[in-house]
Amino acid sequence: MIYEVILYYNFSPIEDPKEFCKTHKTFMQNLQVKGRVYIGEEGINGTLAGTAQQMKEYKEYLWSLPGFEDTEFKTDECDEIPFAKLICKVRKEIVAIYEDGLNPKYGGNYLSPREWREVFDKEDDFVVIDVRNNYESRVGHFEDAIKPDVENFYDFPGWLNEAEKEIPKDKKVLMYCTGGIRCEKFSVLMKKKGWDDVNQLHGGILTYGKEEGGKYFKGKCFVFDDRLVVPVNKESLEPVSYCEITGKPADSYINCANMECNKLFVCSEEGAHIMEGCCCEECKESEFRRPFDPDDAFRPFRKWYNYFDDSFKERDLQKQ
Ligand SMILES: [Zn+2]
Repeated sequence: MIYEVILYYNFSPIEDPKEFCKTHKTFMQNLQVKGRVYIGEEGINGTLAGTAQQMKEYKEYLWSLPGFEDTEFKTDECDEIPFAKLICKVRKEIVAIYEDGLNPKYGGNYLSPREWREVFDKEDDFVVIDVRNNYESRVGHFEDAIKPDVENFYDFPGWLNEAEKEIPKDKKVLMYCTGGIRCEKFSVLMKKKGWDDVNQLHGGILTYGKEEGGKYFKGKCFVFDDRLVVPVNKESLEPVSYCEITGKPADSYINCANMECNKLFVCSEEGAHIMEGCCCEECKESEFRRPFDPDDAFRPFRKWYNYFDDSFKERDLQKQ
């Protein structure tokens, strides 16, 4: 069976996010789709999976709501639903950077995937910033991109304060993320701080892979569902990262089986067996180690730790 995974966002104001969320959730529950949707005063951000028919009905529903007629969807196919359940929540920010007053209206210039590729083809005086977390850029990124060593999107303002001295204000800046939403806010911040020629990849890595074949992208694209990584550049599928246990090329992730550690790290199947799902010998000896199940180990989002729900980790530990 082939399913579809959709990714979308729309910064369109929602007056009563609570009420909107309630109605939205009911619609999705009736439709029986799975995934994760955040709703806030600034708009909606979601990723869902289901059959093509279900996705079609969802898109039509969202397009029918005032203010959301122009919502763009990124669509991928997969042979399993990569979510365990449906989460629909109200959030202050639909993508959290913890900075007030970043209105995407004042963001960078959009580059279509083609325009983006043409800059790489023809120009050489620009910087590229990967607006994703370190564990995402580790398994795949654009050539010569600056890859900030941060674990959360909300660490980016702090990183920019540091990087401010290194990127001249008159430099042409290109930035990208998975589907485009993080650039919508980060580009506003860069413009506010004085960079002028700020450009963002419209539709993100996922759209670029589809429309331009992923040229200049190395490795794979990290996604926040059970698939973990998806291919981007059909010409180069070689991992750019290495298994932390065996040292061999790998681009699959697991969470350390020691719940007190829970580190997300690049690990091959071979490495996972050697260390029984742990990141190091010390964790392997821990009393908080959960039993190693090779099938679940490579689905960290399904079973052990949801990056979007920090309380999950605590609950997991309390159960012990
Ligand atoms: Zn560990």
